[in-house]
Amino acid sequence: MKMKIKTTVLASTIAAIGMLGLGMSSTVSAQQFVSIGTGGVTGVYYPTGGAICRLVNKKRKEHGIRCSAESTGGSIYNINTIRANELEFGVAQSDWQYHAYNGTSKFAEAGKFEKLRSVFSVHAEPVTVIARADANVKNITDLKGKRLNIGNPGSGTRGTWDVLEETLGWKRSDLALAAEMKSAETGAAVCDGKIDGYFWLVGHPSALTQESLASCDANLVNVDTPEIDKLVADKPYYRKATIPANMYNNKEDITTFGVGATFVTSSDVPEEVVYVIVQAVFENFDQFKKLHPAFANLKAEEMIRDSLSAPLHAGALKYYKEKGWM
Ligand code: GLU
Repeated sequence: MKMKIKTTVLASTIAAIGMLGLGMSSTVSAQQFVSIGTGGVTGVYYPTGGAICRLVNKKRKEHGIRCSAESTGGSIYNINTIRANELEFGVAQSDWQYHAYNGTSKFAEAGKFEKLRSVFSVHAEPVTVIARADANVKNITDLKGKRLNIGNPGSGTRGTWDVLEETLGWKRSDLALAAEMKSAETGAAVCDGKIDGYFWLVGHPSALTQESLASCDANLVNVDTPEIDKLVADKPYYRKATIPANMYNNKEDITTFGVGATFVTSSDVPEEVVYVIVQAVFENFDQFKKLHPAFANLKAEEMIRDSLSAPLHAGALKYYKEKGWM
């Protein structure tokens, strides 16, 4: 199937219309719109998409690509929507990138998404549990019998909760309430006492995590059990992770595990489009790193290598090779 890149012809370039009519390619005449699927507006995916688009749009008069970031349900939604050719790009957790490309876990029914392509990885996303102080939760195992937000269907968060639940040998009924709110709704719910805590995979520092910990009596919780150590040892897309002491109100390191946030697309998206996007990010890399505090320690050599299980898109590969990075 052919990718539907929305193309508008600029009214001022009437001559170009003739050229298009003759079947000649004209990148100057046409504007291409590309959309990046992200996550909830208070997460890190949404500003990640915004940061990428900002750098791309700086030169839109030269390359003709106009980029916009959309708030969505998260990783699995983004991958499925790229597959349906309704989004050109998306941010997705590395575990769900892996499963989509390989046709495993939640993607077993849909089968391998062979056209899935990675572009680069971004920040690390530790499994993050915020719990009200009055719920007395120190480790993930103390959540049994509590009211927990496990993420909206379509989020990477929710997918990883389902895996974790099985890893711990729990049933859904082991929670007093398994809420399915979107991330942007969880902060108010935990502060108002509607839930005891929420679970999500997110980069740090994140605005929502910061706000919950600053505005209600709540803490970060360890996610650390022997079953989780085994899971991390068995699966290439998980790694042990730490949320460092004093990042928020935590006096000590929080021990957990996590994935990487990755930027993905489809092989149906033209090489020039992906090239322009990758070039915009890496040519302005110092600026990019300042666009979100979770990007502070990003390194180009890691971004083009780590957490990527789908093949690199040809447009990205071209840029990395030109740079001598591959
Ligand atoms: N990792 C989350 C998910 O895929 C999104 C985190 C964010 O919005 O920054 O559901």
